[in-house]
Amino acid sequence: MKITLPVAASKLREAKKILVTAHVNPDGDAIGSTLALMQVLREMGKTAQVYIDDKLPKNFSVMPFAEEIRRPREDEKFDADLLVVLDTSPDRIGNVRNLTEAPLLNIDHHVTNKNEDIDLYIEPGAAATCEIIFRLCKEMNAAIDKNIAVCLYTGIATDTGFFKYSNTKPATLRTVADLVELGVEPNLISEQMEKRTFLDLKIVSAALQTTKLYYGGKVVGMFIGENLMRKGETTEGLIDLIRVLEDVDVAFLLTCKEKNVCRVSMRSKAVNVSEIAKRLGGGGHVRAAGCTIYGTFDEAKNLLVRTIGGAMVEMGYLCASDFENRAEISIADFELPEND
Ligand code: 5GP
Ligand code: MN
Repeated sequence: MKITLPVAASKLREAKKILVTAHVNPDGDAIGSTLALMQVLREMGKTAQVYIDDKLPKNFSVMPFAEEIRRPREDEKFDADLLVVLDTSPDRIGNVRNLTEAPLLNIDHHVTNKNEDIDLYIEPGAAATCEIIFRLCKEMNAAIDKNIAVCLYTGIATDTGFFKYSNTKPATLRTVADLVELGVEPNLISEQMEKRTFLDLKIVSAALQTTKLYYGGKVVGMFIGENLMRKGETTEGLIDLIRVLEDVDVAFLLTCKEKNVCRVSMRSKAVNVSEIAKRLGGGGHVRAAGCTIYGTFDEAKNLLVRTIGGAMVEMGYLCASDFENRAEISIADFELPEND
């Protein structure tokens, strides 16, 4: 059932022991929003603990209190009277679902979250779940200290591509202005998020070599197979290198997470990629979405490229003859022009 922000606030006020979680494959918004809410609830005198059923990307581990995030062990239980699920519907929280039988409170900004049977506060217009948590703090009259502000800022900055994506609205910028007033130093956050090792850079160069154009250049893909994935520490930012290509509408990154489990990230300039992700069992936003495909890397690649092309034909972004054209242009085969 959809609820309002004041109702969500009252549910938090009534609870005493709160388990806070977010989606697997956590991003800056998932980690920032859970850590911010945990701190706010502790300030209110409650027991609050974040569990996320995944490894944390190392760049996000610098957020205040990130070291307190736990990953559920098999058969572990957590005594809670409320389970708060942030930045996703509860089907993407992995084993956290088995930690407690407590009632759920779901707070999210993804249009594809359509849960009817649990308490859901959804704001598809919010750039990030962290933007909603900021408003929730105001609603609860909870003070936002610098640590909380840093977490909220990081989530908003990463979900908006540092205020470049179309989800950056006046309210988003007003929120981050307030957070900067509370002590956030945007340059330091960017530095932390952009920090890379030499190995990471090597992976970027190898990943770039896998880039392929499809459908006459309207779709671009990058492929991090099992070998490359084992070597690399982070795939953060890789898709941003290809989504900027001229004439490209849809960019995707296919990553081998483990054997026969392939992760897909999609970005677009116009096409509704959340609709494409939904066809493959995922979801997200109009211009940023993702899904998991179970199968070999090659099977996932073929299914993904065909599904994107087919959907683009249906949506009117691709003509049937471009869809029939199976020619791929690989960057590795692309010849540099001769000097005049
Ligand atoms: P990313 O490409 O950054 O992993 O994800 C882009 C957006 O799509 C994020 O808002 C993310 O939460 C959402 N998303 C990614 N993968 C999935 C998925 O498997 N299912 C759903 N429902 N949303 C996803
Ligand atoms: Mn988010």
